[in-house]
Amino acid sequence: MAAQACIKELKRLLGDERCLAEPGRLLSYECDALTHFKSMPSAVVLPESTDEVQQVVRICARHEVPFTPRGAGTGLSGGAVPAEGGVLIECSRMRRVLEVDVENRIARVEPGVINAHLSQQVAEHGLAYAPDPSSQTVCTLGGNVAENSGGPHCLKHGATTNHILALRMVMPDGEVVELGTPVAGAAGLDLRGVVLGSEGTLGIVTEITCRLVPVPECIETLLAPFDSMGAACTAVSRIVAAGIIPAALEALDERTIAAVEASVYRAGYPDDAAAVILVELDGHPARVEAEREQIHAIFRDMGALSIETARDPEHAEQLWKGRKGAFGAMGRLAPDLYVQDAVVPRSKLPEVLPEIGRICDGLGLKLANVFHAGEGNLHPNISYDGRDAAEVEKVVQAGQQIIELCLSVGGVLSGEHGIGLEKQGFMKLMFSDDDLESMARVRAAFNPTGILNPGKILPTPRACVEVKPVHRLPGVDAS
Ligand SMILES: Cc1cc2nc3c(=O)[nH]c(=O)nc-3n(C[C@H](O)[C@H](O)[C@H](O)COP(=O)(O)OP(=O)(O)OC[C@H]3O[C@@H](n4cnc5c(N)ncnc54)[C@H](O)[C@@H]3O)c2cc1C
Repeated sequence: MAAQACIKELKRLLGDERCLAEPGRLLSYECDALTHFKSMPSAVVLPESTDEVQQVVRICARHEVPFTPRGAGTGLSGGAVPAEGGVLIECSRMRRVLEVDVENRIARVEPGVINAHLSQQVAEHGLAYAPDPSSQTVCTLGGNVAENSGGPHCLKHGATTNHILALRMVMPDGEVVELGTPVAGAAGLDLRGVVLGSEGTLGIVTEITCRLVPVPECIETLLAPFDSMGAACTAVSRIVAAGIIPAALEALDERTIAAVEASVYRAGYPDDAAAVILVELDGHPARVEAEREQIHAIFRDMGALSIETARDPEHAEQLWKGRKGAFGAMGRLAPDLYVQDAVVPRSKLPEVLPEIGRICDGLGLKLANVFHAGEGNLHPNISYDGRDAAEVEKVVQAGQQIIELCLSVGGVLSGEHGIGLEKQGFMKLMFSDDDLESMARVRAAFNPTGILNPGKILPTPRACVEVKPVHRLPGVDAS
């Protein structure tokens, strides 16, 4: 009843076109890009300003109906799924670049701006926004802030948190707060930093002030195939140990190469390689040249089958096309894809990757690896058919075993995709009860009733009216 009364008020505020409540129009909002977890919202609203977000939040709070922010829904951990039903606040219509301050290299944007669009809009000033998730042509900066997203070029330039200066945010009670400042070195607690990576559980971000970086003077892209993934990963460790931090240092395995080469993302990767390493160097031309020579020597020493250097920007773009399109290419292998996101110390890659292969082989699952090798951020991709309950169960088992393996070598649960619904059950493997209690207290300081995005990351106080249980993966204890 409370949900119906709430929706009536929301429709009065936003009209039928910006407050969707008919079942057919809600269907595409029942999950994010991790299709395991499904829960239908009671309504989806499409606000266009901070003021409208504030009014929506106040209406929901008054009716005690939970609400969850959403960007483009490309998240891979269930973060934007309305776990306990209620209202989904989709920020995609807040997509204006409000200000570009070229002199100070800052942009102020709304949260629905698509990541790649920002770089396109500031390119005429010789500037770019550095964090580049592989989903960058679709995902929003609001989602990037919430997940503290990374991307191939975050090895050298840092993840989202390193590029966000200030946020405007609507709190779960409707208060609007400003966190951080456009000027570096602000005093006081870094509450901006607390919100970065908090997965939409502390407030709804409605404005983002971010750094822009100059487009590098010189960019060089290299591709090296290897006949073993172990040799490729050792080469990666040796590059970083030599003191070189490339802009990007990415790896693709044999099955990913095959999927990419059979798809529209065809990049010309050699089909007889067990692995390829893609490197991008940027900076002053003399430095790029010196680093290229060092990397060539390491690659030769590690038995690279060849070393290809992009001739021009078009050729570089082609080499990147395969990496950036790898997840899309895997759509050819099976109806569903499960992307794991654990991180291990870089030096452990050669021992961990074969073990992950053994886990998946043992369960009869199809595995392909494409990952941020320079950061040790793995993306074991398991292609499966979600209609086959037995296969889904095996995917769950593989996910758990991969997480346990990565933690056992000093790794962490997630490099960039977040905890969301997917990894809640694993938090206790990494954190003590005291750690979790501390995190719950921080969240309660922002979100005391738990009405904002309930049921994520940690156990939360429940304050919802209409409970629609999430269809959880069998075997995952999310308590
Ligand atoms: C093919 C593919 C490739 C990917 N590659 C990468 C990659 O390289 N690196 C990487 O880090 N991720 C990657 N991802 C994951 C995903 O794209 C990122 O997590 C991205 O930041 C999500 O943005 P979104 O707009 O889709 O957010 P959504 O999925 O809609 O939401 C993600 C989280 O953000 C919260 N949220 C959204 N908007 C707001 C807001 N305005 N205020 C507060 N909270 C909000 C939601 O509640 C949710 O918890 C990939 C995903 C896919 C499908």
